[in-house]
Amino acid sequence: MKALPLFPITTVGSWPRSIELLRAQKLRRQGTLSEEEFERVADKAVLNVLRLQEEAGVDLVTDGEQRRDNFYSFVAAKLEGVRLMTLAEMLNLVEDTVSFERILRTLDVPSYSISNATCMGKVRRARPLAVEELRFVQKHTDKPVKVTLPGPYLLTRSMYLSSVSSKFYPTKEDLAEDVIQVLSDETRELIEQGAAFVQFDEPVLTELVFTQGQTRTFMCAALAARKDPAEELEFAVSLINRVVDAFRDSRVGIHICRGNWSKNEATLLRGSYHPLVNYLNKLDVRQLVLEYATERAGDILYFEDKELGLGVVNPRIERVESVEEIKCSIERALQLYPPEKLWLNPDCGFSSFSNRPVNSSDIALRKLRNLVVAAQSLRP
Ligand SMILES: [Zn+2]
Repeated sequence: MKALPLFPITTVGSWPRSIELLRAQKLRRQGTLSEEEFERVADKAVLNVLRLQEEAGVDLVTDGEQRRDNFYSFVAAKLEGVRLMTLAEMLNLVEDTVSFERILRTLDVPSYSISNATCMGKVRRARPLAVEELRFVQKHTDKPVKVTLPGPYLLTRSMYLSSVSSKFYPTKEDLAEDVIQVLSDETRELIEQGAAFVQFDEPVLTELVFTQGQTRTFMCAALAARKDPAEELEFAVSLINRVVDAFRDSRVGIHICRGNWSKNEATLLRGSYHPLVNYLNKLDVRQLVLEYATERAGDILYFEDKELGLGVVNPRIERVESVEEIKCSIERALQLYPPEKLWLNPDCGFSSFSNRPVNSSDIALRKLRNLVVAAQSLRP
């Protein structure tokens, strides 16, 4: 792999889907489009996203998660024992229907357009989660490739729906054992295949500290986390470390944000990473990919011995951050981090949920271009 420039630029993963791809995803869900036909449309979409990133000057590219319905539910098609359910279907099965419905309403989540992968049997990897996606991208670019995956804590909590999962796993801790196996096997194969960066998404960690045990996420069917957020965070850290432990020599990172399903910032969580610092310092990962373009994330904090993937543009607002503004954010981070530890990215994906893009492809591209210009002006 060619040496990376100073302040390497990546995206957090997802890119808005074309109308053609959204239609293909819908037809595939309905069972009226063959797998081959879907892949043909998706291949074209990935190539387009790849060209856009290359044109903008991104240093590590992704496939824009184009084949995925959302950033974590796609595992349903790859795992045994897991079924895709819309949130509307889940409403009938969760322990506390009233609360779940209230969460969906308060958070501005459309229950029919978002799906969840739910555990309904013993979980095993029937197919790799992202190895084929990686190979496809590698065939079409010379740039190093980043692969995004849902983290073990998010997957465990989102898949465990007591009324249907407990027959196979008495508790979510039991399910976690198989999730760790799945993600460890996947990470090993991705690294063997040459993935330059494997990023695990764990957006639910912020929910644990900002809501004081009052669950406010629709991503977790197992509504009841432990009463004590500290215990739950220790559990999350232990799951992540068990997955990443064997890959300390590779670039593995964790992305943590405060939600990315709505353009209404008021419905998203608010608060600094400060209550998470001790837990994040314990993670055996090389990089923390964090959001800092939104003022909801507070001041930039220092994390020991870690690279910071600094969020410098907000994917949810239409205004394109100026080059000057982005340079100021980078300079602020340089007061805490040595330049070689600083990476640059948007705060989150531009379409974590395929039916809920938070921006257009055009605006996303303009944001990336400014990010690249700002980085280039600060490189030696
Ligand atoms: Zn995010």
